[in-house]
Amino acid sequence: MSELMGTTGLILNEPLLWKKGKKGRCAFSLPRRDVESTPIDEELRGDGPDFPDLSEIDVVRHYTRLSQWNFCVDTGMYPLGSCTMKYNPKINEKYAALKGFAGAHPMLPPGLTQGALRLMFEMERFLAEITGMDDVTLQPAAGAQGELAGMLLIHAYQQSKDMGRSKIIIPDTAHGTNPASAALCGYRPVPVKSNQKGFLSSEAVHEVMDEDTAGIMITNPNTLGLFEENIKAIAEIVHSKGGQVYCDGANMNAIMGMVHMGKTGIDVLHLNLHKTFSAPHGGGGPGSGPVCVRRHLKPFLPVPRIIEENGNFAFSEDFPDSIGKLHAFYGNFGVIIKAYSYIRAMGPKALKKASQLAVLNANYIRKQLTGVFHLPYERPCMHECVFSDKFQRAGKVTTLDMAKRLMDFGFHPPTIYFPLIVDGAIMIEPTETESKEEIDLFIEACKTVADEAEKDPDLIRNAPQKCKVKRMDETAAARRPCLVG
Ligand SMILES: *Cc1c(COP(=O)(O)O)cnc(C)c1O
Repeated sequence: MSELMGTTGLILNEPLLWKKGKKGRCAFSLPRRDVESTPIDEELRGDGPDFPDLSEIDVVRHYTRLSQWNFCVDTGMYPLGSCTMKYNPKINEKYAALKGFAGAHPMLPPGLTQGALRLMFEMERFLAEITGMDDVTLQPAAGAQGELAGMLLIHAYQQSKDMGRSKIIIPDTAHGTNPASAALCGYRPVPVKSNQKGFLSSEAVHEVMDEDTAGIMITNPNTLGLFEENIKAIAEIVHSKGGQVYCDGANMNAIMGMVHMGKTGIDVLHLNLHKTFSAPHGGGGPGSGPVCVRRHLKPFLPVPRIIEENGNFAFSEDFPDSIGKLHAFYGNFGVIIKAYSYIRAMGPKALKKASQLAVLNANYIRKQLTGVFHLPYERPCMHECVFSDKFQRAGKVTTLDMAKRLMDFGFHPPTIYFPLIVDGAIMIEPTETESKEEIDLFIEACKTVADEAEKDPDLIRNAPQKCKVKRMDETAAARRPCLVG
């Protein structure tokens, strides 16, 4: 086994701050007082909080060490499928932190914010170009909110045509947020099964599509990491019954510059800037889920919209058919700046190359691990590949056990038990930013884990051994979270 594996992260013990420091120690120094002191009323003074006395270095080291307990993409490979945890170039942070951007108050008048407005205006054009759609809103704060916005757009469009509809078709390969968003908008999700190849057949859609169905929500590439090959024929069937086609494009990292989504027949599509366009995410940080539409849905986009007149940019609320506002102000501007900076730095050629490399890396892993783990759908994948624990389950070792063991080798575990249509799923998305050497280390770790599953299953069942936090009670952790030390 490579000597680097599992030893590249720092593992440090760290007591509570209350166990550190010394009475009278202080983290700042002020010049001696040169005025008379005035006693404070004893009653007001009280005892003061029970805080430890610490120096600056005590505090800096404490929090720096604690930060090492967290895994992040800056410390190691993060192959979390469906999440596109790629490395985010720091230059994007630098631009987002520029004073004129970071300090701009959202209520400043347009005369003082032309730069920010222009950036958002151009960003909308870039995303329209990348997706091949006609217009874009940057307002939604995340993918799921983009989905809800898309559903509201479809609803508003059909209302304007006096088409009241109650259902929406959702394949079993769609992201879990899809049925939730549809239901939030008042639609009843109608499930439809993918075929043995892992994508949707037009026959299956034909069977369920009717005139009470508002349309379909289709994740493409889907959650098996496969491209929905019949999307055009499916869109035709849905359109022929007056329905609309929603595409969950959170997995755009697989197809940038490769597929003109506007020509696949879809009507609405959302993107996750905090996946494909290099904005860091996770831990509930801010996201951005722009929604791209074909021309007929444009009048319904959320307000305010950014308009341009003779080189001047302004906000306009003058869209009477709009679904209204979705977010305070105009969306998560900081995330939009990072994504804008990324797109400008990359340009069309490098964006396409990023997708090609993401797909190549995923297929390399798929090939290398075929036979090590069970591969339920044996066909070339897009940006991620999905295995299962079928081979290991015979020895009573599960996906969860293996995911925990991978942490001992210094890797963040892949996505597990998702998508639901694969029993014991292990969903690996390496992204384009990992080098071949790093991917090879990951493959070696997976092979070692599979080997251990056969020879020493208890070792795996008791993993992780090296991490700060050992095996958790996953159910209790979710149901009764303990948020204090
Ligand atoms: C991540 C993801 C979403 C949800 O995005 P959030 O920003 O987490 O709301 C939706 N669909 C797909 C396919 C995704 O991968």
